[in-house]
Amino acid sequence: MTPNQILASRLNNLSESQTLAMTRKSRELQAQGRDIINLSIGEPDYDTPEFIKEAAKTAIDQNFTHYPPVPGYQDLRLAVSQKFKRDNQIDYSPEQIVVSTGAKQSIANAVLALINPLDEVIVPVPYWVSYIEIIKLAEGIPVFVKAGIEANFKITPQQLEEAITPKTKMMIFSTPCNPSGSVYNRQELEALARVIERHPQIYVISDEIYEHINFVGQHQSLAQFKAISDRVITINGVSKGFAMTGWRIGFMGAPLWIAKACEKMQGQITSGTCTIAQKAAMAAVLASPDVTQDMRDGFLRRRNLVLELLKDIQGLKTNVPQGAFYVFPDIRSYFGKTDGKAIIKNAADLCMYLLENANLALVSGDAFGDDNCIRISYATSDEKLTEAIKRLKTALSQLH
Ligand code: PMP
Ligand code: GLU
Repeated sequence: MTPNQILASRLNNLSESQTLAMTRKSRELQAQGRDIINLSIGEPDYDTPEFIKEAAKTAIDQNFTHYPPVPGYQDLRLAVSQKFKRDNQIDYSPEQIVVSTGAKQSIANAVLALINPLDEVIVPVPYWVSYIEIIKLAEGIPVFVKAGIEANFKITPQQLEEAITPKTKMMIFSTPCNPSGSVYNRQELEALARVIERHPQIYVISDEIYEHINFVGQHQSLAQFKAISDRVITINGVSKGFAMTGWRIGFMGAPLWIAKACEKMQGQITSGTCTIAQKAAMAAVLASPDVTQDMRDGFLRRRNLVLELLKDIQGLKTNVPQGAFYVFPDIRSYFGKTDGKAIIKNAADLCMYLLENANLALVSGDAFGDDNCIRISYATSDEKLTEAIKRLKTALSQLH
């Protein structure tokens, strides 16, 4: 029997994370000596701030080295609860907070806790890669609602209403959005909340992991709308805003019974997450959000740099992302073109062509449900970004 015949169908049906796959591929090529510029992974290039690292060192010295409570240390849950109140005007008691090994686990906990086979989950497109695979693990059915570049990658209340059926159990989305960088403003969220209010069987996972990387003012949370707040699971964490991707801390605020369900799930799979990382996250969550300002300013400057450089490339269409650290250009004008060897049929072909011919690693839009686009992560230095867009321009100009 082949390994695939032996492996569970659950695993065979699962796709590898394309963001992580592209990053793995570019690391392999780098190890072979290729000068790859990797704009495929979504992670800040900044280092974790010193005061956070100090908190972790103190935690080790103070012997926070034993099993922690499954949903997280009580003082961290309190700090997260206060953070939701302070920054987002949401009332979650500490008991409604579950701390996990990254926001990815928080999302998986919530989906696995709520979704039965054949339950429908509405997913605005473009979406973050892992939503779909986690829904598939739970045997739910993703229902796609497409928001293209002309809609600034945001869905309308009408589109949401039309996608709802008696089988709809959940919606999952991110704001600021990975991969489009779109940010829902208060009015737009309120309009979506009104639709959700009319359908009491629907729960929403509002993924706000890019909260602090927002260039248009105050971040808005879906759970602020009281009429639906008892059906919203707010996901957040420290990975992006505090440059702490490797520490693996995410958290949710949720209705108490959902938080308890997620605690039960986590208690059988990973237990409470790393004690030292929890103490570091506590320092981050307690700090004034102002500490993220310099990084945010840096991301904004780089966004402007990339948009300016992309303007020079013919046939590439982009909107102005308002948050996160991605640009998601529409590249369909290159479909059907060739460099004399390969024909570019879709975004995946284009990404492969760029990796082979320009030593540039980007992620194909189909990973995010939109095959007309490619994702560029601009969380890297100005020099690398300038060189990357130069390579992109040269490689694209060779397609006819
Ligand atoms: N949601 C979105 C939209 C993301 O981009 C990421 C980053 N990979 C996550 C969740 C997961 O975050 P974490 O690294 O904390 O698991
Ligand atoms: N959020 C990042 C990305 O989209 C991290 C990679 C991942 O976890 O998939 O690239």
